[in-house]
Order: sequence, then C-alpha cells, then structure tokens
Amino acid sequence: MTDKPVVLMPEDIQRIMGKDAQRNNILAAKMVAEIVKTTLGPKGMDKMLVSPTGDIIVTNDGVTILDEMQIEHPAAKMMVEIAKTQESEVGDGTTTAVMIAGKLLENAEKLLDKKIHPTVITKGYRMAAEKCQEILNEISLKITSEDEEILKQVAMTAMTGKGAEDSRERFADIIVKAVKQVQANGKVDLNDIKIEKARGEGIRDTELISGIVLDKEKVSADMPIVIQDAQIALIDFPLELKTPEIDTKISISSPEQLQSFIAQEEKAIKDMVDKIKESGANVIFCQKGIDDFAQYLLSKENIYACRRVAKSDLEKTAKATGGKIVSNLSELTQFELGNAQFVEEVKRGEDVMTYIKGCQNPKALTILIHGGTEHVIDEIERAIKDGLGDVVSSLKTRLVVPGGGAIEVEIAKRLREFGQSLSGREQLAVEEFASALEFIPVTLAENAGIDPIDILTELKSRHDSGEKNAGLNLFTNKVENVLEARIIEPYKIKSQAIDSASEVAIMILRIDDVVASSGGSGGRSAGGLPPGMAGMD
Ligand code: ADP
Ligand code: MG
Repeated sequence: MTDKPVVLMPEDIQRIMGKDAQRNNILAAKMVAEIVKTTLGPKGMDKMLVSPTGDIIVTNDGVTILDEMQIEHPAAKMMVEIAKTQESEVGDGTTTAVMIAGKLLENAEKLLDKKIHPTVITKGYRMAAEKCQEILNEISLKITSEDEEILKQVAMTAMTGKGAEDSRERFADIIVKAVKQVQANGKVDLNDIKIEKARGEGIRDTELISGIVLDKEKVSADMPIVIQDAQIALIDFPLELKTPEIDTKISISSPEQLQSFIAQEEKAIKDMVDKIKESGANVIFCQKGIDDFAQYLLSKENIYACRRVAKSDLEKTAKATGGKIVSNLSELTQFELGNAQFVEEVKRGEDVMTYIKGCQNPKALTILIHGGTEHVIDEIERAIKDGLGDVVSSLKTRLVVPGGGAIEVEIAKRLREFGQSLSGREQLAVEEFASALEFIPVTLAENAGIDPIDILTELKSRHDSGEKNAGLNLFTNKVENVLEARIIEPYKIKSQAIDSASEVAIMILRIDDVVASSGGSGGRSAGGLPPGMAGMD
C-alpha cells in the first residue's frame, strides 16, 4: 500500500485552472482594451511609442499601438489578433473591435460572479452576435458607387481626429477620386494606389498624382531633368553585359585582341541602346542595373533612365501609363511603350524622386503625402489608409451605417427586444452583450470630456422614440441625427468588429485550464506561463 504520486506531466509544466484561469485571461483582455480605450474617436488621445532602438511613433491607431507593444500574455495576444483581423479585413475600426471584446469579457465576469455558468454565457453571446448581424443588415443604408458625396463623408469620418484635421476635406476628395479612378469592374485593388511620402511643405500640399512617383533618381546627371510627352519603356532585364556566373578567363595575347574584345562589348551595349531608341522611347525604367557605358549612351540620346526600380513599382507604372513590361529587347516596339505628359526628376532637400505625371486614364496612381516631419507624415499616411480602406469597403458592400455610436445604440436596443423573447439566463447574456455595444458611445463621450451617463441616457431615449440615427456628434458635442452631421461609417467595420470580438470573447470564456510548458532551459520566449500569469494560486 504505497502512496506513490501519479505523475501526468513533467515538473516544469505550469498550470492554472478553473476560475483562476478564467479570471486571469479576462483581466488580461480587459487590460488590452483599456490600453486603446483613450484613443477611440475624434477626441481620442495619441500614444507615443518608443522602440528599443529609439524610433518614435506617435499614433492613435489601435492596431499600430498593440502591434508595437509586444504583448506576451496568451489571452491578450488573442485580443491583438482581433485588431489585426480588423485591419486586414477592413483597414479601420481596430480600436472599436478590441474594445467591444474587452467589454464583452468584463460583462461576462459580472455574470460569472452571479454564478452563471460560462457555457450559458457563451450560448447567449453567440445568439446575440448572430442577431446583431441580422439587425445590422436590416438597418444599414444602401448606397451606389455614384454616391460620391457619401463616400467622401465616409473618408472624412475615418480621418476625423487623426492629425489630418484641416485638410480632411481635401484628403477625402483625393481618396474618392483615386478609388474611382482605379476601380475596374466594380472592384478596387488597393495595390493600385501607391502612397509615397515627401518631406517638406505642409500636409495640405498632399496631392493626387495621375501617375506614379518613384523614389528614384535618374542614373546620370547628364540626362534631361524633364521629358515632355514621355514615351516610356519598362524593362525587367539589365542593360549591361551578362557577368558570367562562374569565373571565366579570357586569354588575350595582343593589344589588338583586347581592343577588339572591348569594342565587341561596347557594340553589344550600343545595339541595346539603339534598339531602345528605335522604339521611340525617351524614358526607360529598368528593374535591374544599367552599366556606365549604357548610361553614357542613353544620356547622349537624351533618354531619361532609372535603374533598380522595384518590380511592384514597375508594375504600377505599367498600369498607370498603359505600357507593357518587356523581358526581351527584341520585343520592344512603340506599342509596348507607356505614355505620360511628362517625366521629371524632383529634388526636395536630400530626397530625389521621379514623377511620372499626367497619364491618360491611369489604372494606378499615387497619393503623394507632404508633411514637415516623418512622424507627421506617418500618421497622415495611417489616416489616409483608414480613409481608403473605408471607402473601398463601402463600395464593396454598398452599405454604410451612422457613426457616433448611433448604430451601436440602435443595435443594442433591438438586441434587448430580442432578449425579451428568450427565457432564462441567456437573456442576461444578451442583455450584457447589448450594453457592451453601448460602451462605444460611452467612451466617445468620455474621451471628449462629456458626461457619458447623460449622453447614453439621451441616446437611449431618442432611439426609443424612433430616432434611429441619433448619435453623439463630437463636432457639436450634442446628440443629433449623425447622418445629417455627415458622420458615416462602412457597414463592414461594425459587422467585422462584432464578429471577431464575440468570437474571441467566447473563446476566452471557454478556457478553464492553461497548461504551459517551459520548454527546458527557460527564458520568456521559450514558453511557460508569461509574466503576470505565473504565480497565481
Ligand atoms: P477605430 O480604431 O475603431 O476606427 P477611431 O479612433 O477611428 O477608432 O474612432 C472611431 C469612432 O469614432 C467611431 O465610432 C466613429 O463613429 C466615431 N466618430 C468619428 N467621427 C466622429 C464625430 N465627428 N463625432 C462623433 N463620433 C465620431
Ligand atoms: Mg478609425
């Protein structure tokens, strides 16, 4: 009768179970939501993130913040994933998604305190999430691709409070124009809109270029700075003689032989340049190298040339100018050339760029962001990307919703009505789901320094009396019809946020056991319970 202990797992396995695991995960998720909370909405604050190497980012973009924070807690990481999904699916609404998830978990905790079993909560949440989508589909507003005014408002709402304040209108104009220009068969590929940055001048000088801006200078100072009526050859092979793959020895026994060898090489290059000239090209963009002699000959012919142009840039230039990328010189004719009104080298401080401008009906183009400092430009870039994402998303689904918390309050209201039809404890979960959504207008108010309780009370009573577009307008700090105030967002922001937030909340609630192996030698990245999780009892 020996009492030998039963050993299931190695000793260095760390494990927390039951309520502890649950509470710990919920706490971590809430902390993540708490981090981004103060950045929500136009009056949200920014965060300054400093990397170990001293790089600085100033932003209020949810996904950027969480991405830079190197979060380690497993449940918290799942929250960060929500932001990433939101970013890749819609390109905006990352803070919203994370906050809804955080609030769903916080509210679930209240139910756990009331001894409601997690499976009941998750069941209720699942029903609520499904119902949300139904309601959302019902109350979203239909638009067409001709509704440019609405698309502009969507872009402006996305950029409100993102450092683009004075130029929002102009940026929205640029965004909608760009999207409409590259649209093909009702589809938009955001890769066709190049974003390039130029230091110097103010952000209001940001411009839409009917063409491509390349971060490249011409290869030789002797080439012309501007080419009018540009005929552009796009090639993806080098303008130089092939260097043999293996070391080659050439035996030359007399000066004449050397001469003739060099002459031969030069002739081959000259033939290449002649061929380019014959095609009628006066500009050439080359994905590979251009050697000195070729540069010399091209300059003599007044041809503008850039080398080592990135493949993606070459492809965009082809789309913008209507040219074709050629892989073999014998294929190069005038029909492969792209056209632009002009190609120009522009110097700004230390930056040198090549502008390909004035393309007829370009299928790719450039938004050139100007700004005084790198940090400003980067934040404007994030704002413009949010705007682009939102406009494209609105065009794709052809559905938009009122912002300023209006849609959240309306969904919450209808969700509660739906809850009434349920019996038992799931109703409580649906109720908590509804109040999690109301956390969005509450936070919008809080971040603007307005009393959130007053606002929520007013919002709820206005919605009860049938004003389904009543939201918090943070231009006036009043509850009003936000559609009239032009605060409009894409449907997909909300549907995606609700979907991923509820999925993750449910997943975290179902965990009651965390088993972490330390993977031997220790060290944080080698596994084990992350800091903050270990040491629970
Ligand atoms: P997210 O990362 O979720 O997109 P944002 O900081 O971009 O977070 O804030 C988005 C929220 O701000 C949305 O709920 C949107 O309706 C709201 N919002 C935008 N402009 C206004 C405005 N003028 N008044 C009130 N709310 C606004
Ligand atoms: Mg946003």
